[in-house]
Amino acid sequence: KARKRFGQNFLHDPGVIEKIVRSINPKPEDVIVEIGPGLGAITEEILAINPRLQVVELDRDLIPVLRTKFFNYPDFKIHEADALSFDFSQLATDRPLRIVGNLPYNISTPLIFHLLAQAGVVQDMHFMLQKEVVQRLAAVPGDNNYGRLGIMAQYFCKVQPLFEVGPGAFRPAPKVDSAIVRLVPHKELPHPAKDLKTLQAVVRTAFNARRKTLRKALGAMVTVEQLQSLDINDGLRPENLSLADYVRIADLLADVKSANGGTEEVSND
Ligand code: SAM
Repeated sequence: KARKRFGQNFLHDPGVIEKIVRSINPKPEDVIVEIGPGLGAITEEILAINPRLQVVELDRDLIPVLRTKFFNYPDFKIHEADALSFDFSQLATDRPLRIVGNLPYNISTPLIFHLLAQAGVVQDMHFMLQKEVVQRLAAVPGDNNYGRLGIMAQYFCKVQPLFEVGPGAFRPAPKVDSAIVRLVPHKELPHPAKDLKTLQAVVRTAFNARRKTLRKALGAMVTVEQLQSLDINDGLRPENLSLADYVRIADLLADVKSANGGTEEVSND
């Protein structure tokens, strides 16, 4: 029986499962980690190609089900753990990781942030998410759902929405539409920030007040003169700035901070 608290909606449409696995395009030599295998719908198809697949599953009742179902794959490895605190980088021993999963929607945003922090050891990620979350990941300046998630995802990764999946592909059917997205970490960051924490603080602060002008939204961190020195109009709204603009603001603050001997704290609430 599916458990709500674990965000369990199990895939049962063979056509959709096949389409997902075809997009992932697993190879025998890949190091693949699946988050939330559930009853093993995607797991089964990947194992047929890559018998060393590893999975991270939190629901302890599912572990024996998976062990029984895949007993004939001796190299299949189950990590009974919470993906939100799991150290994925430990699995990237000889190759970067390929991470896949039909994610539990109730924790997908914090989980993506957790994974972005480990993007350095990742080859690519394929996720089933609530459709709105895929839209947020891929959003560009001016879009309604442009914000912190999209900016930080695009800082680290190329974001490719692949296709949508209706509620009927799952049991039980979720109330929302879903979509598959591919995230490919940049080999070289297109807009590297001098200090990542400062960038995160600027973006978080800006979108805490997304309806306000930059002058107001960033007022506690950045002066109007500083914005003007970057040729950024302080009457714009947070949703109008590109990732590159946010990096320029963060770099200016990082420069000020190091000129002051690193004593000036960036406000961050
Ligand atoms: N992959 C399966 C499928 O497509 O049929 C199941 C997907 S279901 C949406 C999400 C899965 O993630 C469930 O198996 C659930 O138990 C598991 N899960 C929920 N929270 C988790 C967490 N924090 N860490 C790891 N797995 C989790």
